[in-house]
Amino acid sequence: RIRPRAELRQVDTVCPYCGVGCALTFNVDDERQAIAYADGRPQPGSHSRLCVKGRYGWDYSFSEQRLATPLIRRESSYPKGPLSSDVRGDEGRRRKPGGLVDYDEVMPHFREATWDEALDLVATRLKEIHAASGPGSIAGFGSAKCSNEEAYLFQKLIRAGFRTNNVDHCTRLCHASSVAALFEGVGSGAVSTTYGDVINADLAILAGTNTTANHPVASSFFKQARRRGTKLIVVDPRRERIADHADVYCQIKPGTDVAFYNGVMHEVIRLGLVDREFIASRTSNYGELAKVLREYTPERVAQITGIDADTIRLVARLWGEANAGVIYWGMGISQHTTGTDNARCLIAMCAITGNVGRHGTGLHPLRGQNNVQGASDAGLIPMFYPDYQPVDADGVRERFEAAWGRELDANPGLTVTEIVASALQGGVRGMYMMGENPFLSDPNINKVRKALSALNFLVVQDVFLTETAEFADVILPATTFMEKDGTYTNTDRRVQLGRKVLEPRGDARPDWQIIQDIANRIGLPMDYSHPSEVFDELVSVMPNYGGLHYDNLGLTGKLYPNADPLHSDGTVVLFDERFGTDDGLAHLVPAEWLPAKELPSDDYPFILNTGRLLEHWHTGSMTRRSFALDAIQPEPHVFMNPGDAEEMGIGDGDFVRVSSRRGTIELRVRVSHRDTPGTCFIPFHFREAAANLLTIDEIDPMGKIPEFKFCAVRIERAGGA
Ligand code: SF4
Repeated sequence: RIRPRAELRQVDTVCPYCGVGCALTFNVDDERQAIAYADGRPQPGSHSRLCVKGRYGWDYSFSEQRLATPLIRRESSYPKGPLSSDVRGDEGRRRKPGGLVDYDEVMPHFREATWDEALDLVATRLKEIHAASGPGSIAGFGSAKCSNEEAYLFQKLIRAGFRTNNVDHCTRLCHASSVAALFEGVGSGAVSTTYGDVINADLAILAGTNTTANHPVASSFFKQARRRGTKLIVVDPRRERIADHADVYCQIKPGTDVAFYNGVMHEVIRLGLVDREFIASRTSNYGELAKVLREYTPERVAQITGIDADTIRLVARLWGEANAGVIYWGMGISQHTTGTDNARCLIAMCAITGNVGRHGTGLHPLRGQNNVQGASDAGLIPMFYPDYQPVDADGVRERFEAAWGRELDANPGLTVTEIVASALQGGVRGMYMMGENPFLSDPNINKVRKALSALNFLVVQDVFLTETAEFADVILPATTFMEKDGTYTNTDRRVQLGRKVLEPRGDARPDWQIIQDIANRIGLPMDYSHPSEVFDELVSVMPNYGGLHYDNLGLTGKLYPNADPLHSDGTVVLFDERFGTDDGLAHLVPAEWLPAKELPSDDYPFILNTGRLLEHWHTGSMTRRSFALDAIQPEPHVFMNPGDAEEMGIGDGDFVRVSSRRGTIELRVRVSHRDTPGTCFIPFHFREAAANLLTIDEIDPMGKIPEFKFCAVRIERAGGA
């Protein structure tokens, strides 16, 4: 029986899943020590709405599989390797409860330890490696699931404690290329307007975003704006649900974004629809851009993209004539080896038409995880200190050395993908992994497996025994989102308070406390008694967060920058007078279209696209332990076009074998009109048919982001039921 609301305790917090950061209230039954249900509550970015994850996806916190005690690998379990029947890729037929790590198989390799014993071992081993092999031999992966305070402390520990900038997180796998292009083009890695501002746009382009699955409540704002008169143009090789609401849908061929947007800009210029005054006063390098765009005639672009020339002309006219145009994009833009070029084109699209700096205009990379914006802001990036202050810029390092009282490394560190490569070559030898699961989330995981096995020492700090934890020397049990206080910054730049709802499970500790415990053991003093003290410190070194304080964030959070948090919600539109670049101008960077790194061939004739489902989240460690979410989507599928399936004699639900040059997985087919002939889609949440066994680890040269959206695969009937 669910008790009446009056008998329950209400805790106002935010959703732990996506970058929309919906405000919610948990109704807590203290007698049963359980959450009875969740309600959406009013906030400018969510209007009391919740998707299925926010409404039902929090019961993972009560899972019996929670880690509750520190664990140390037994001597008999060396040499290390993956333990839980490995990720062979042929387990798609087995429906394991939760589909995850086999605890019975893994746990005997570890013994329980006290916190002191585990923390002493972590500090000793990392210090030994640091002393023997130098600062570059240490690296840390933080997490976009953790709070701003935890992200800040984690990067401070790695930078000030080990004197290396080898610290990164999963932004490298989602919007690193967008951040690189935005920082270069407009001098800021954050969005220039909110998704709610779409209501003020005449026209919105949704580029490479499965927003109904990945940012469900934001997508409701897009659909609502369309009903109120905003035109929607959707550009995506996969016909995602949002395309059903589009005025114009452009199903470009995979990997042809640069050509498409160059073609649109070519026509905008030819039709005389550019904003000459804006270009002259607010941008630089227009001449070079226009020179490159000359070659992208609609006819040539039609051949590359598969979009007919008249549709390219139509999109150009609609975009050029709009009084207020805005672009929202997702990982269909960023997760390519040309991800930075793709984002450069979107920046140029806005800048040459004067579509930045006013309501209903601007640039918005829709952030994935609940705190990927905040974790990036707080410095979990190897080339930036907090607030995107470059580690190699004049005077910046000295400022942080003064703030932290330590000498710091003057060179940018390694990214996620580079750390994996370095570990394989014996460069990085000791790693601290907080809340990341690269064994499922990174590309070409056979390579990741070898890298993790090659490390001299790995400490994994997480809520569950993840696939990555199977390689750990020490496992530290962390609390869930619901068991701690902290701030989180959503995709709009809204900084919100997450409030503690439940007591920690067993001996689990909040991530910020564990970081502090390790810092003190390696000789970097930390003495914070509450995350609010960490927040005050991070605000002191992050000008964009200036003025924010736990006491003035209120129930709905505040947008940054915010000159008067007590009386204002914050700044919706950035760059109204100048951009964040040194000269205040938008830097236009032309891009030439380049094909993907691994094209289909006779042996591997399909193009594989990977991504997420509405009901699951990343490597599934939380959502696959949620009863409702797992019940709706319990097993992996490969989505393929009905024509392809029929030609191969494959029916919906049949098993197939999907192979790339890097591995093979077996899973069922879901026939889908959303995928074009010759393409297929596999969500990456499922260990038992791990999509990243197939993906290629080629990276974008500037953003260092992998090409999750394009590699060549073969599909064969596997037989059986
Ligand atoms: Fe949570 Fe995102 Fe769904 Fe909102 S849209 S409830 S933040 S998962």
